[in-house]
Amino acid sequence: MTADEKQKLFNLLKTADAWNLGYTRDEFAVTPQFSDDEVINTATAEPFSVSSELTKPAESVSVSSEPINTQESPAEESVKSGMTMEQLKTKIERCTRCSLARTRNNVVPGMGVEHPDVLVIGEGPGEDEDIQGLPFVGKAGVLLDKMLDAIQLNRQTNCYIANIVKCRPPQNRNPFPDEQSACFGFLQSQIHILKPKMILCMGKIAIEKLMDQRVTIMTEHGTFYDYHGIPVMVTYHPSALLREPELKRGAWNDLKAFKAKLDTLK
Ligand code: URA
Repeated sequence: MTADEKQKLFNLLKTADAWNLGYTRDEFAVTPQFSDDEVINTATAEPFSVSSELTKPAESVSVSSEPINTQESPAEESVKSGMTMEQLKTKIERCTRCSLARTRNNVVPGMGVEHPDVLVIGEGPGEDEDIQGLPFVGKAGVLLDKMLDAIQLNRQTNCYIANIVKCRPPQNRNPFPDEQSACFGFLQSQIHILKPKMILCMGKIAIEKLMDQRVTIMTEHGTFYDYHGIPVMVTYHPSALLREPELKRGAWNDLKAFKAKLDTLK
């Protein structure tokens, strides 16, 4: 198969995948470099490459020198090498696995205490977070802090706050599935190092990626899930609560149930 054919097939599959997951996209965030397959000359039975013109790597928007390989997750590396949070943060800050690296101002690895009661997971940095390099520091962050404070949680003493993707998606669009996948190993590593007692997912993107399943927030907010033995709850994203304040009552009920469960674990 030629590089061009592989590229077309890749584009088709990515579009179908994105559509299936409810996304639209006008660019491909991660484009592997394709090259033509070697062709066997049946006359001589010698493998040879097709002309050098065709074997030149396809022009690519890939920004990474690392192969894009979401199978070898950084979580596994950190498990093997006993990576510290500081080392992991440095690795995250240097990441160029997807095209969000080209438009970010700052990487937003996360912030909070080393062994938190609760890991809070959002979707991805917005404009304020991208400027400051810190998670949830804009309007949604102010509301998140109030929500946590209402159940005696905060990022200074007992929480860690992270996101599914560590770099801001342009125009605050939802992170694409391949961007989420490229980044997810970092979150797995964070969970491995932090060992939180519980996880609170803010909104659909966070819970769907963490649990690898489709979730309808309107009906499933407040539901408990299990992530490798860690109780997980999803509630409304603070941005949704800012847009639709009538959802706050439901969020408050979720938070009370979350705290009640946490108290049983302490
Ligand atoms: N929204 C998120 O999901 N995460 C942030 O860090 C900020 C806003």
